[in-house]
Amino acid sequence: MIFVMIAGVLLFSILAYRLKALTRGGAAAALCIGILIALGFELAGLFILGLFFVTSTMWSKWKRNGEDEINEKGGQRDGGQVLANGGTAAFFALLYLFVPSTLWVYGFAGALAAAASDTWASEIGGKAKGKPIHIKTRKKVPKGTSGAVSPQGTLASLLGSAMIGITTAFLFPGEGPYWMMVVIIATAGFFGNIIDTLAGALIQVEYKCAACGLRTERTHHCNGRTVQVKGWRSMNNETVNFLCTIFGAVSSAALFYLFTG
Ligand SMILES: [Zn+2]
Repeated sequence: MIFVMIAGVLLFSILAYRLKALTRGGAAAALCIGILIALGFELAGLFILGLFFVTSTMWSKWKRNGEDEINEKGGQRDGGQVLANGGTAAFFALLYLFVPSTLWVYGFAGALAAAASDTWASEIGGKAKGKPIHIKTRKKVPKGTSGAVSPQGTLASLLGSAMIGITTAFLFPGEGPYWMMVVIIATAGFFGNIIDTLAGALIQVEYKCAACGLRTERTHHCNGRTVQVKGWRSMNNETVNFLCTIFGAVSSAALFYLFTG
């Protein structure tokens, strides 16, 4: 059975590369993450990973307006982005493989709920009509700016984490009462997204193009290097996403422990 699942993950990664949802590196990272999750959580785990991946890709293919100028990367996700979103979930699958515990199921689901929450918020929030508001300056900023919030984005982030919570509770029925699982995982995922927004507003690196004045996450623009204007150089979009999933995972496991321990 495990070989069938690994073959499935391989086919899926190749397909995602062919459909330009992932770069070559992104497909390689997705393959590694898929194999680890198959080993730890088998088909149920793979289904939840697939659900996160397919819905997030769908939203990002649906949109695509002027936002690419601000974000460092376009719609095709690379290795760093895939690891930042799925690495924490894969780590908990590995943990579960060696030391089976319900805690790691919550960690796994919390990580993916946070990833879904954040991705849905930015992809769907980016499609909203009005401009989002920066949580620190309280001013309207262009769509796609890190640390910005909108009602549509917040609703989308709740729906994204709820989707993972509902699915996990359904596929892992032995790990706790249904609604408790849904509430814990959805809440933890939403917490993770809040951390992402705060980090995006306060410590994420931001550059400015000397030629055209654009504020961006890119290190190059208009054929030249951009200048750092705020944040920590090590806090790029991937590091912030990674933090978001770690926070989602830890708060999910901690909430489970609090409710049942
Ligand atoms: Zn420029």
